[in-house]
Amino acid sequence: MAKGICVYAENYNGKIEPVTAELISAAHSIKETTGEPIQVIVAGEKCEALTDQLKQSGADEIYAVKTDRDCAFQDDALSQVIADMLKKIDPSSVLVPATPMGRSIFSRVAVKLNCGLTADCTELLVAQREDGTYYIKQNKPSFGENVFVTIVTKEGYYPQMMTVRPGVYTPYEGEGSAEVTYFDDIALPASKIEGVGAVPAEAETDSILAAEVVVVGGRGAEEPESFALLKAFADKIGAAIGGTRPLADTGQIPFQNQIGQTGFTIRPKICISLGVSGAIQHTEGIKDTKLMVAINTDENAPIYNIADYGIAADLNEVLKEYLEL
Ligand SMILES: Cc1cc2nc3c(=O)[nH]c(=O)nc-3n(C[C@H](O)[C@H](O)[C@H](O)COP(=O)(O)OP(=O)(O)OC[C@H]3O[C@@H](n4cnc5c(N)ncnc54)[C@H](O)[C@@H]3O)c2cc1C
Repeated sequence: MAKGICVYAENYNGKIEPVTAELISAAHSIKETTGEPIQVIVAGEKCEALTDQLKQSGADEIYAVKTDRDCAFQDDALSQVIADMLKKIDPSSVLVPATPMGRSIFSRVAVKLNCGLTADCTELLVAQREDGTYYIKQNKPSFGENVFVTIVTKEGYYPQMMTVRPGVYTPYEGEGSAEVTYFDDIALPASKIEGVGAVPAEAETDSILAAEVVVVGGRGAEEPESFALLKAFADKIGAAIGGTRPLADTGQIPFQNQIGQTGFTIRPKICISLGVSGAIQHTEGIKDTKLMVAINTDENAPIYNIADYGIAADLNEVLKEYLEL
């Protein structure tokens, strides 16, 4: 009988990616109902260094495979290792970060295990069947991000496998000391992929997820002149720039910087919201901000319901005055 909530610990250059702690949080919320153990799987060349970082992550069990070479981006080979690990562990669910690596590896794992893979979940809920068994309702935006759908893995197919969007769950504050099991009998097969070099990415999303101060633009800041003021303001105070969906739709900001239910969830210390009405689909993505400041001409705008400070004024005038233009 499949048992356990398994989290894939994505790693690069000997470091566990921070999104793993978010998935462990999601796993804990499932464990509260199902009582299953939380298992973390990891594979890599610097395996002991990786498992050391995971021991106090809040997992109950750690399963690891030490590979004989660096296998970053060798998704064809790594997916075989992971499929072999999952066959041995037999978890009821597998939580994977919805990152380019996670998506690429686990689409291959799903084929090897003949199970499904739900992409890009933003909410995982546990439900119970009449026979008392549990299953996961995998909620995600769909159809051009216009509706929320609930996907359920067909009964009897395990593991229930899903990728979870980074930034949705608060990172788990690690505790405990999990036992590590090494699978010495699983070897990394040959790969058809050879890494020829690495170029650092312009990590726009990472910068907005990690930023302590974020300036968020809405339709009220959509005009080029207003957006230029917003950019100058963000530059001056050293803030990252996020936006509402209309700004992502018009290409004013990349999708990776859209905040909200179908975008990203941010938890900065300070968020300054400019020309944003405060629709629930947007505020869901900023509700954990510690200090919220809003500028909106409409003093009845819903954004003021969540703002700590508000300025009911034209953002162009406020920014010009601040920037002394
Ligand atoms: C399924 C679904 C998912 C969605 N997901 C998201 C999501 O992830 N993120 C998201 O943001 N939205 C999302 N939306 C859209 C959401 O419902 C709102 O339509 C959107 O957030 C509104 O964006 P806005 O506040 O920029 O624009 P508006 O609602 O048009 O508000 C613009 C505001 O700017 C103010 N304003 C205008 N000019 C000025 C000025 N000169 N100075 C100051 N203030 C000014 C106006 O008073 C107004 O309040 C989703 C919708 C659906 C149906």
